[in-house]
Amino acid sequence: MPLYQQDDNKIVDYSADYFLSGALVTTDDNVIVYVNTYFEEELHWNCNELIGEHLDKILTKSSKIFLQSYVLPTLLHEKQCQEMQLIMLSAKGERMAVTVNAQLDEKGYIYWSFFNATQRDKLYDELIKTREQLEEQAEKLKSLASTDELTSLLNRREMNYRSVLLLEQAKRTNRSVALLVIDIDDFKQVNDTYGHLQGDRVLKELGQCLKKISRQTDLVARYGGEEFLIMLPDTNSADTLIFCQRLHQLITAIKIGNSRLSVSIGVSMSASNSNFTDLFKHADNAVYQAKANGKNTTYMHP
Ligand code: GH3
Ligand code: MG
Ligand code: MG
Repeated sequence: MPLYQQDDNKIVDYSADYFLSGALVTTDDNVIVYVNTYFEEELHWNCNELIGEHLDKILTKSSKIFLQSYVLPTLLHEKQCQEMQLIMLSAKGERMAVTVNAQLDEKGYIYWSFFNATQRDKLYDELIKTREQLEEQAEKLKSLASTDELTSLLNRREMNYRSVLLLEQAKRTNRSVALLVIDIDDFKQVNDTYGHLQGDRVLKELGQCLKKISRQTDLVARYGGEEFLIMLPDTNSADTLIFCQRLHQLITAIKIGNSRLSVSIGVSMSASNSNFTDLFKHADNAVYQAKANGKNTTYMHP
């Protein structure tokens, strides 16, 4: 579509246009009848050779599907289609993200405008990446806020929150729950004799031990310095005592110098009207009783 302009009495040929967007006309059955030079400059097509070709030639497979399933039906119905996101192909097979507007005239010709959207796609990709990073960080923060750094068990706050929920659930289903307060025996001596670093190593190993012996549905927490809590859902008192015996046995694997680690365990069983505060108080008192009974033992609140 050559254009001519009178300029200082000279005829200037503007057949090479300078639009920074692709302009294209097709018949209603998608045969290309006009392309501007953008397709040659930016996409390296031979414009003359594109005339008579099907629009599909310059689109990716997914864009062709989108064209058939959405763009053309919308054009027939609405006469216009704006800001569609398609991928165009260059003559070399390179892909270019484009934003497309199209309009159908009364004779059945479709006028297409293609705008390079590579930059927008890049920004969009960056936005998605940033969002993923933020989500990852939020996940990490959430985990940091709910777990104990040294042992990776639940921390006190998370334990308080989750045990209340678990207790409510147990009440609804009429199941009993056991709460164990586990306190290391003579831990002060471990620190005094071997140093704090060894003390920390012992805490970490005990944490792993508690995790290993527990089921996925049990709550296992480091509740204080050398005090741990386990909540066993759907467990009766006999099974809880068996669990405690296994725990005492397993813990002997943790060595401190020439001796072995031991803990005292206080247990309380939930009743239909139990709340967490009472359950904890009873289990905590039971630990004192276990200590008074000579340590390395379990005492169950009556
Ligand atoms: P008992 O058998 O009666 O429980 O005696 P104990 O020595 O274990 O109890 P006590 O409460 O007298 O001492 C607890 C010790 O735990 C004191 C403190 O230094 C130590 N402790 C608490 N938190 C940590 C920690 O994070 N790391 C280390 N290494 N030690 C800790
Ligand atoms: Mg203690
Ligand atoms: Mg202790």
